[in-house]
Amino acid sequence: MKEIFEPARLFMNNLPYTFLLEVLFRCIVIFLVLVIVLKLAGRRGIKQLSIFELVIILTLGSAAGDPLFYEDVGLLPAICVFIFIIILYRTTTYLISKSKRIEHWLEGKPVYLIEDGEFVIHKFKKEFMAIDEFFAELRLRNISHLGQVDTAILETTGEISVFYLEDDKVKYGLPILPKPFNDKQTELNMDIFYACRFCGNIKKPQKSQKQFTCDKCGREDWVKAINEKRLG
Ligand SMILES: [Zn+2]
Repeated sequence: MKEIFEPARLFMNNLPYTFLLEVLFRCIVIFLVLVIVLKLAGRRGIKQLSIFELVIILTLGSAAGDPLFYEDVGLLPAICVFIFIIILYRTTTYLISKSKRIEHWLEGKPVYLIEDGEFVIHKFKKEFMAIDEFFAELRLRNISHLGQVDTAILETTGEISVFYLEDDKVKYGLPILPKPFNDKQTELNMDIFYACRFCGNIKKPQKSQKQFTCDKCGREDWVKAINEKRLG
């Protein structure tokens, strides 16, 4: 039967002090694994929190919680996890402050999603963000079509910055409300503005026709464009 308050178990779970070196090694491995996994998960998964804040919460949360009631988890290894993780964290933030390349790899760069009322498609495809989610974000800002937007930028935090066009500069754009966005046109009439559903390109056919190809993205997928001003 185990004794309570037995120091060798309470502080070191009956292991030699050299076990603390193994704890250091474990910390480094788990720290790196968490950073890489969270990085691969994409920034949309970790809105608001940076990768490092999340690493700190996960590792320290476990190191603080386990010794509370597991009798075979010693106090000293847990305390050392705190110390090691903080040292690793401080070292990494120091490296980030010294190297732009490490900073960009770990924290990403702001990405232009919309410029001048149209998608910046070659950049857009690389991001993990779903288009539905992006449209929802725009709608929450009372945007009904892309012609109201001058610039939209995906920030490294996962949030989206939007710069609007002045009311008198609003132009024809791709509608992003679900009904008009899904109202695909099968006949394209002369002298009406249409928006490409994939890239937001705006075109006005010179003659009525069944379909035509988007000169920007090569698709044939059009809806009626709108140019109303932004309300609210
Ligand atoms: Zn297009």
